[in-house]
Amino acid sequence: MGIALRLNQLKATLPQDVTLVAVSKFQPVEALQQAYDAGQRVFGESRVQELVAKQPLLPAAIEWHFIGPLQSNKVKYIAPFVHTIQSIDSLKLLHEVDRQAARHNRIIRVLLEVHVAQETSKHGFGIDECRELAAKGSFGTFPHVEIAGLMAMATYTENTQQVQHEFTLLQHLFNECKTHSFAGLSFRILSMGMSNDYQIALACGSNTIRIGTAIFSPAAEPQ
Ligand SMILES: *Cc1c(COP(=O)(O)O)cnc(C)c1O
Repeated sequence: MGIALRLNQLKATLPQDVTLVAVSKFQPVEALQQAYDAGQRVFGESRVQELVAKQPLLPAAIEWHFIGPLQSNKVKYIAPFVHTIQSIDSLKLLHEVDRQAARHNRIIRVLLEVHVAQETSKHGFGIDECRELAAKGSFGTFPHVEIAGLMAMATYTENTQQVQHEFTLLQHLFNECKTHSFAGLSFRILSMGMSNDYQIALACGSNTIRIGTAIFSPAAEPQ
């Protein structure tokens, strides 16, 4: 079964207001082009070098989302074209994105990454930390950044109850952040759910899912 077919089958099961980010990390540009030709416009990449190499080879209409760990000193490479940075995990990074977006006269949309999973390797603000920063208005108002929501990953586990518990915590945090004035009306994106857990995420209010394996390589070994 090809990329186009898997993509269309997946899309057919999603509610209309859900954004599907096709996570194309490690995939060759030919695979992205196939997805593009099948109508996909939103792609997610998790490495700066890889994104910078692929972007010029693919159609300009693509909306690129950066979803991986991002060092402040690398923001400048993606600032000219990135549409959304989903992985803002520090105030320092937020400041740098604002600075680089200003240099290019752009507004870059960002999501705050929240750490809820049990794995210690995952990046992001803690739930309480995020809540406090939001309440204090510490995320600030940046002229060149639009803080549009939250992104998170659940623990990688077969235990669906735990995954559901984590997504529910995020849903609550999201609703709470929405009421804080720092974000205003632009705070509307809850990005959670990957190939193995997106159905649970959607049931917990996610409106943006990030799917790689289920589109590009369903037969791949689990990582
Ligand atoms: C790789 C990745 C995904 C996609 O994961 P799949 O299991 O391949 O669907 C989603 N989000 C992030 C942050 C990722 O790094």
